Amino acid sequence: MKTITINGTNDERFSSAAKALREGRLVAFPTETVYGLGANALDPQAVKRIFKAKGRPLDNPLIVHIAKVSQLNPLVKEIPAQAEALINAFWPGPLTLVLKKSGLVPDEITAGLDTVAVRMPDNPIALKLIEEASVPVAAPSANLSGRPSPTTYHHVLEDLNGRIEYIINGGPCKIGVESTVLDITSGIPAILRPGGVTMEMLEKVIGKVETDTALKPEDGIKPRSPGMKYRHYSPNAKMFLFDGEPEEVIKKINSLTSENHAKGLRTGVLSSLENKDRYMAEVVVNIGSLSCLEDVASRLYNALRKFDEEKVDIIYSESFSEEGMGRAIMNRLRKASSGMIRS
Ligand code: AMP
Ligand code: MG
Repeated sequence: MKTITINGTNDERFSSAAKALREGRLVAFPTETVYGLGANALDPQAVKRIFKAKGRPLDNPLIVHIAKVSQLNPLVKEIPAQAEALINAFWPGPLTLVLKKSGLVPDEITAGLDTVAVRMPDNPIALKLIEEASVPVAAPSANLSGRPSPTTYHHVLEDLNGRIEYIINGGPCKIGVESTVLDITSGIPAILRPGGVTMEMLEKVIGKVETDTALKPEDGIKPRSPGMKYRHYSPNAKMFLFDGEPEEVIKKINSLTSENHAKGLRTGVLSSLENKDRYMAEVVVNIGSLSCLEDVASRLYNALRKFDEEKVDIIYSESFSEEGMGRAIMNRLRKASSGMIRS
């Protein structure tokens, strides 16, 4: 299959992509979080093609993207008052709501669950595409399953060229990590995946919010969001996350780097701006300042892919504060890494 690139909404073939999407073909498109791989959410065959193109496990449900609040009603049994408040506050934006599904939503999307995850992306290209296709659009991240999520057109091309019909190029994604997934179907709302809308922002609107216990570092608990059980977002080389006093972390990473060097192994370090000149590793990727976690989030996946380009043998990463956007960053770093080293 030849993958056609569309350059934004002014491209004369934009409408063909929207039509193809409606008719069951796959179109990758930019959102404010990461690039999505879209299929007509009401067409089970189209949805199955997403899993095939990505190599995604079938038990990992998909998020349905809509362009207008009126598209939500037919997909769900009810819209609770909390959902309305959250929609008013955060849509369009990086907040996915898990609600009781209606009979219209195919099981292929929800992996057989009786709930459906829905969001409205805050990106003009995504909104126009969904509106023109005039169907809700199921869209996971537009990467091969397990790889770091795509935050640029080139990342999508790297993973999916020849596997899907269209890619719409809309430049780099603003936020750079996936949406927050919030379950409001039972009791206290629970964050199943931390993301672009932080816990602090949610609590200002609806009060107490829980974090799914399976998101905590001590694993082994069955996650309520099936996708969270997979190793994810990973570069090719094994990555280890370091925690502890910054000076100790730097010393430890440099000492391991020398050992690797002696064995002929290339080391990569994922470093904050503040520490980037203090590492001896062959490849040091600056992921942004410790004082601007939004910036760190937006560079995260590109940084992980950089280690693949540089063909390093092992990666060491600094840790970040687990407040605000830091929760999403640390969640992705944990999932991308093979372990935590405390120094
Ligand atoms: P991705 O499409 O890769 O951004 O991942 C979507 C995330 O949303 C995964 O972690 C899924 O497990 C989660 N998700 C999607 N639908 C549901 C649902 N009905 N209930 C709980 N989690 C869901
Ligand atoms: Mg994904």
